[in-house]
Amino acid sequence: KTFESFGTSPEILKALMSLRYYSPTKVQEEVIPLALEKQDIIVESQTGSGKTAAFGIPICEQVIWEENKPQALILVPTRELALQIKADIMNIGRLKRIKATAVFGKSPFKIQKSELKQKSHIVVGTPGRILEHLQEGTLVVGQIRTLVLDEADEMLNMGFIEQVEAVIDYLPKERQTMLFSATMPPEVDRLASFHMRNDRVAIR
Ligand code: AMP
Repeated sequence: KTFESFGTSPEILKALMSLRYYSPTKVQEEVIPLALEKQDIIVESQTGSGKTAAFGIPICEQVIWEENKPQALILVPTRELALQIKADIMNIGRLKRIKATAVFGKSPFKIQKSELKQKSHIVVGTPGRILEHLQEGTLVVGQIRTLVLDEADEMLNMGFIEQVEAVIDYLPKERQTMLFSATMPPEVDRLASFHMRNDRVAIR
């Protein structure tokens, strides 16, 4: 399989080549075609599998640059992961001039607020701080079409379940949800069954 076979646009292909992503990893091969069809997907996969690009490529592909509101929201357990994903996505979407913003706790709210006021196609952050921005009205989610729950098992282990669910309550019901998790304990299944479509596809 090649990235071309997914119908990847020239700008994104060129960015992938400069990242030396010459061919898709296994998880990318499985996830990208389904994601482009806006399927809900549950993926059991580890860090190192290429999972960030597995959701990052189809999200970047579907971003409409002119739309001035966030179109994808990615929830993650840690600040480090938020920053890493932001960097990866901005690399993948570089030639489309895609802008991603990372928000997380223990960091000035005001600076994040002004970043969110700028053009921001994709927002990645930790559940508690994302929720605060929703409550303050500094993050507008009316145009979110894709939600990613990354390292879902870790978010639940860290006690973020209530914040995750409170964030989901703000989002449009008509959306795509992709859940990534290294393990699939019953709480992760429960989260999926409450917040994802019934025709979701499971990949492992
Ligand atoms: P991740 O599992 O998303 O943390 O990715 C693990 C590592 O693999 C990161 O350093 C990525 O930059 C790299 N990577 C992701 N996809 C590809 C690919 N298709 N070809 C080569 N490297 C990749």
